[in-house]
Amino acid sequence: MVSIQNVTKTYKRGNEVISVLKDISLNIGQGEYLALMGPSGSGKSTLLNLIAGLDRADAGSIEVDGIDIAILSESELARWRATNVGFIFQFYNLIPVLTAYENVELPLILTSLSGRERKEHVYTALKAVNMEDRLWHYPSQLSGGQQQRVAIARAIVTDPAILVADEPTGDLDRVSAEIVLELMDRLNKDMGKTIIVVTHDPWAGNRAHSMKHLDKGVLSNDDQDSHS
Ligand code: ATP
Ligand code: MG
Repeated sequence: MVSIQNVTKTYKRGNEVISVLKDISLNIGQGEYLALMGPSGSGKSTLLNLIAGLDRADAGSIEVDGIDIAILSESELARWRATNVGFIFQFYNLIPVLTAYENVELPLILTSLSGRERKEHVYTALKAVNMEDRLWHYPSQLSGGQQQRVAIARAIVTDPAILVADEPTGDLDRVSAEIVLELMDRLNKDMGKTIIVVTHDPWAGNRAHSMKHLDKGVLSNDDQDSHS
């Protein structure tokens, strides 16, 4: 479902051009659960952001369900992202002045759902992460693990086929991390979500079906350990 061919990405820092991703090719099947691992600065988040349409490659193609996302205009890309990809971040990225309910409702504002349908979707998503008893809590009134569960509810509320997670357990204690990983397993197994997770957490890596390593912008399989 995700087909990445010969993707490169550079950033400019002053006059210097930094090559962050070098000729990346990768296929990710529907329903796959892939872990991307590698040293800090190796390009993991950059690659994840390209797959999710948050950033654009310099060269190469990224096709998702037959759509080459490189040729979409900014507004088409934003719409594509809003309905096809759910995002989970290390620091949850909840809006502090909105309740759990309101945070989860946010992505639905871009859809044409009625108020009643919106409410049903929000309740279903918060139920799926066992947070239905914390609807009116603000992020500051929730633990890190609970905030991440609300963030996962927000990621799935539009029912996207793909979930991308960048260090989802990076800021959590082991117990909270396991709850989050258990949830991600269920989203993959029971709801068929394709999951791409960037992680340093070996427990998270072990739950994935496959693992790829990035090192200095070069991708390899997990059997060729490329840690430096
Ligand atoms: P970490 O494990 O620390 O999160 P990472 O593997 O996710 O690292 P990236 O965030 O993808 O690494 O960054 C790869 C390289 O690209 C780094 O050298 C970083 O400084 C650079 N980089 C990332 N985003 C930008 C940007 N928007 N502008 C300039 N350079 C960037
Ligand atoms: Mg990163």
